[in-house]
Amino acid sequence: MVERGNSSLAASTRRGRSYRGGVAPAETRREELKAVWKQAQACTRCPQLAATRTTVVFGAGNADADLMFVGEAPGANEDKQGLPFVGQAGRLLDRLLEEIGLARSDVFIANTLLCRPPGNRDPLPGEIDSCQDWLYRKLELIEPRVICTLGNFSTKLLRADPATGITRLHGREEIRTIGPRTVRLYPLYHPAAALYTPAMLETLRADFARIPELLALPAPAQPASPAGTGEQPAPRAPEPVVPEPELPAEVAEQAEQQPAQLGLF
Ligand code: URA
Repeated sequence: MVERGNSSLAASTRRGRSYRGGVAPAETRREELKAVWKQAQACTRCPQLAATRTTVVFGAGNADADLMFVGEAPGANEDKQGLPFVGQAGRLLDRLLEEIGLARSDVFIANTLLCRPPGNRDPLPGEIDSCQDWLYRKLELIEPRVICTLGNFSTKLLRADPATGITRLHGREEIRTIGPRTVRLYPLYHPAAALYTPAMLETLRADFARIPELLALPAPAQPASPAGTGEQPAPRAPEPVVPEPELPAEVAEQAEQQPAQLGLF
């Protein structure tokens, strides 16, 4: 295993939260996340994307991560491999993580969309809308404390403010309630945008350098937290975001036979 610079930070992002006051233990949430992964494999909420995708890119990483990244949408490489950020932008993300003492296995990486928009076009508003329940379900189960949005699409979605872009917001953390979860939201430039613009890369690197500081802050109080207890609310009864779909035979078979895919988190 590669020796990383900040092992205490890495350990703190892999905290196994204890079972307190009805909060579901990490292993229960992870099992539920696997069930949601399986449902997502059959999603057809965006018929065009469902027809043109090769895989559903659910997201990958630590199912109990304190730090989550949300990018835009899978590209060609991600669509082929079924994993987020595996191309050039992903390699830059890996490098930036390593510079702050973290690895992919310490964090969870997802996108606003599960499926690749054909020709790498921008996600459409209706697609982002249709896909957001999947993202909220991940937040509910992973329970991150800090979410880094990467680029404009996820920043605008998670701040519910389509008018304010990443150039104004990057590097400025704020506490936001997003679906079921209150988090520190920390917008960052998208690594793909930084690939060919050295000044943007330096800004992204400087913004990244503050992530350990944000992770060290106390977890934001959760919306339904009983006043003064600091306890997190009990999770909602595990209910699927969409009615459990019938998995097509080949997907069901793949889901059974691919422990490696299910072992992504
Ligand atoms: N860009 C993204 O926003 N997401 C990916 O998964 C890959 C590239």
